[in-house]
Amino acid sequence: MNFNLTEQQEAFRKQVRRFAEKEIAPLVDIMDKNNTFPQEIRPKLAAMHMYGIPWEPKYGGAGSDHVSLTLALEELARVIAPLSMHVQCQHTVGDRFVKLGTAEQKQEILAPICAGKKVGCFCFTEPDTGSNPKMIKTTAVEQGDSYVLNGTKRFVTNGRFADVALIFAKLEGDISILIVETDREGFSRGPKMDKLGLRGTELCDLIMDNVRIPKKNLLGGKGGKFDALKDAMTLGKLCLSAHCVGLMKAALEEAIKYSMHRMHFDEPIFDLQAIHWLLAEMASRLEASRWLTYRAAFLKDQGVSTIKDMAITKLFTTQTAVDVCRWGMQVHGAYGISKEYKIERIFRDAKMYELLEGTSEIQRELIAKRLPR
Ligand SMILES: Cc1cc2nc3c(=O)[nH]c(=O)nc-3n(C[C@H](O)[C@H](O)[C@H](O)COP(=O)(O)OP(=O)(O)OC[C@H]3O[C@@H](n4cnc5c(N)ncnc54)[C@H](O)[C@@H]3O)c2cc1C
Repeated sequence: MNFNLTEQQEAFRKQVRRFAEKEIAPLVDIMDKNNTFPQEIRPKLAAMHMYGIPWEPKYGGAGSDHVSLTLALEELARVIAPLSMHVQCQHTVGDRFVKLGTAEQKQEILAPICAGKKVGCFCFTEPDTGSNPKMIKTTAVEQGDSYVLNGTKRFVTNGRFADVALIFAKLEGDISILIVETDREGFSRGPKMDKLGLRGTELCDLIMDNVRIPKKNLLGGKGGKFDALKDAMTLGKLCLSAHCVGLMKAALEEAIKYSMHRMHFDEPIFDLQAIHWLLAEMASRLEASRWLTYRAAFLKDQGVSTIKDMAITKLFTTQTAVDVCRWGMQVHGAYGISKEYKIERIFRDAKMYELLEGTSEIQRELIAKRLPR
């Protein structure tokens, strides 16, 4: 067993941390208070290869690995989690092109995604279903040399400004993936959702009303794409776990900082045993989550990760993040609920992760079904 990051991975982490503190930190208010995505950051993210960390350089990727992707998402989320969501979404979309795309599709979509010139979104949730994608109602019907799409996708991250949507739809009764450019006739977007946390990801509905796309926009051939969805969601689970590690790190840092300055009689509250206990619990849970997440990334790089590994990692890390961020808030006393302190946003963001890429209930189902018996 080797628990060390490589020199390259360590250097990359430091580079991303510097970048996040300098370039991303000033965007926190734009995202959280205004609920707006700062488009001007895209070229800078692309220059840092943030949009294609594990992919081949011939498509503009960094040619690196999933451990590095994990480190980058952790560092971005430590500063502002919704920015990390945006980056992750680009990877979830791009990963489908890497695995299923033709050379032409990779050139047309993957390369501009890596270059930050195109934004992708990944769409399976619908008004009537999130947890059971087999129930999706969006349809694609063959008409001559085209497919015609009808349906509504819900809670789409990057939705308000994406150039290309990967739409999961029923084609001849089975799930297929269709590439839909968002400027096509019949395609429209609902209003931006005003939500609790992860603000600025510009979540919205996408509505398709007789959207006609050419047959070449089918990704990976007709049907059988439930497995592709599950595969994409295993990458998603890893990425979300990395965000949660970043959030927990930020919560611990804020709690330590606050407790060293807040006085009780003549002593900082940092010296109180009750605060020691909270900080120690936070540090321990952070460490356990971190290593579970790095292990999941390592297994992915070895090509041996399983749905169970990813579901265990996601379940533990996202639930733990809510506890750790709540304890960080407790250290702040009543000031923890004030928008003047970072912990208020960190706590709101942490709660969101129990609902994404499969709720905690769904992770438990995935794990339990795969237990040895
Ligand atoms: C911030 C954010 C970003 C998102 N981004 C995207 C995106 O980019 N693309 C996209 O397609 N979707 C996205 N989603 C949607 C997300 O994937 C769904 O919200 C999620 O799958 C849950 O679906 P639902 O909300 O419809 O809940 P439901 O499926 O209606 O579930 C309601 C409750 O019932 C429980 N439940 C349901 N079925 C079962 C079961 N079989 N066993 C046990 N319990 C069950 C759930 O755990 C939950 O507690 C996003 C959501 C959020 C919050």
